[in-house]
Amino acid sequence: MDLSELAPDYVRAIAPYQPGKPIAEVAREMGLPESDIVKLASNENPLGASPRVLAAIENVIMELARYPDGNGFTLKAALAARHGVGLEQIVLGNGSNDVLELVARAFLTPQSSAVYSQHAFAVYPLATQAVGARGIEAPAKDFGHDPEALLAAIARDSDTDTPTRILFIANPNNPTGTLLDPVQLLGLIERVPENVLVVLDEAYTEYLPEEMKSDSVGWLKRFQNLIVTRTFSKAYGLAGLRVGYALASTQVASMMNRVRQPFNVNSLAQAAAVMAMQDEAFLDECLAINRAGMAQLTEGFKHLGLDYIPSYGNFVAVRVGDAAAINFSLLRQGVIVRPVANYGLPEHLRVSVGLEGENKVFLQALERALEELKK
Ligand SMILES: *Cc1c(COP(=O)(O)O)cnc(C)c1O
Repeated sequence: MDLSELAPDYVRAIAPYQPGKPIAEVAREMGLPESDIVKLASNENPLGASPRVLAAIENVIMELARYPDGNGFTLKAALAARHGVGLEQIVLGNGSNDVLELVARAFLTPQSSAVYSQHAFAVYPLATQAVGARGIEAPAKDFGHDPEALLAAIARDSDTDTPTRILFIANPNNPTGTLLDPVQLLGLIERVPENVLVVLDEAYTEYLPEEMKSDSVGWLKRFQNLIVTRTFSKAYGLAGLRVGYALASTQVASMMNRVRQPFNVNSLAQAAAVMAMQDEAFLDECLAINRAGMAQLTEGFKHLGLDYIPSYGNFVAVRVGDAAAINFSLLRQGVIVRPVANYGLPEHLRVSVGLEGENKVFLQALERALEELKK
């Protein structure tokens, strides 16, 4: 018998998440040495993790036989102090993807729905579908979130048998890099019905210029239905360790904590995250490298006559035309970026901002790929 038929329809219908190709795989497939590969595919931090974080990890390595602190007390205390919230308002996750799933698991059922934008982060439809809820995609505007369309897409309890319980917002969004500024964002949240949770995914918030940063954590006092998610995977350079968190009202956080695994954040990740928050000099260095690299990439695109979507993150989506062909040419040259056809952007490639030399290798390979395709 076909055992996949034992899974419910909504699980069988899930299109698997497409991660960036690992360096080793491309090296194998293209017959290139791993050291020649430039990977700008997963919005990882090109500087790696801070040396102080690496030292903090070494200190806990001897304790690997022990379970981690299931309540993550030290990390939560550091987050509570940083953000001015109570410990009971924090939910830790095995990456912020984990907390996105916890919201879905705690609040969605096959009798409810979640709303997200066209071109928004792929984990929202995945998390929604995995629990059998209905996903509603609102049309984007200029590749970004359109507040009017999102509000219009919310299914009201009086109108449907699958009312909306969650609105997912990525700000900035991945893969488009688009942003709702603080005024637009607050205007949107104010108009969301109070029985709809607003998941505000701020995975890239550290990269924003000060005037574009929303007081999202401050808004938690006003909006009991608001959930702010953050991660250590991007600006803090800890993607491989998997640690992120949500801040929410006590009631919402309590529901999310009930459905998480008791030891979902490992001990190395907890220690690393605490130290990463302290090492502000390293964070500043990462942000400066990102600003310079973003300018380098967008200058390069202008030079090549390519349109790109202006981005507030550590990545940028560039319109190359036949993205599948360009991507294949880049792979043959040992450069890994991310095709985004599965995000409804078949003519774009998303490239993460790397170190100066990596960006240069990518731009040269892109120029060669465009020339090859003309022939
Ligand atoms: C990278 C990313 C995340 C973070 O994922 P982690 O699970 O924390 O590594 C969350 N949201 C968006 C929009 C992202 O691009």
